[in-house]
Amino acid sequence: MELKVDTLKCTGCKICEFACNYHYDGTSSPIGSSIMFYREEKKNYYGAMVKREKSLLLARPEGPEVVKPGQQIEGASASSKPILLRVACDLCEGEDTPFCVKSCPQDVFSIE
Ligand code: SF4
Ligand code: SF4
Repeated sequence: MELKVDTLKCTGCKICEFACNYHYDGTSSPIGSSIMFYREEKKNYYGAMVKREKSLLLARPEGPEVVKPGQQIEGASASSKPILLRVACDLCEGEDTPFCVKSCPQDVFSIE
């Protein structure tokens, strides 16, 4: 099973970050989330980074990219570095449906 992220549907509400953090420690905060939402200056350009066990999933409107540890991320800013220190996504182990999947109002996340 793998987490898919379709950021073309994202509206930037950031609920997914809070939902993921809630899975780990039951608190309402985005700080411990495996997901980091980001936006660029372009209109309606939203993306999400997901920390995985051995890679980083970079989901952008132009399509997903899997980045390996140490690999240069094209166009990355300093704000993307904290995601590398986050806990890796465990696909919401123990849950019937991952929190990001059931909380995103735009159905950006899915499991395949
Ligand atoms: S919850 Fe969904 S719509 Fe909101 S920021 Fe996350 S991916 Fe985007
Ligand atoms: S599947 Fe669970 S742990 Fe993984 S990013 Fe979504 S909410 Fe976070």
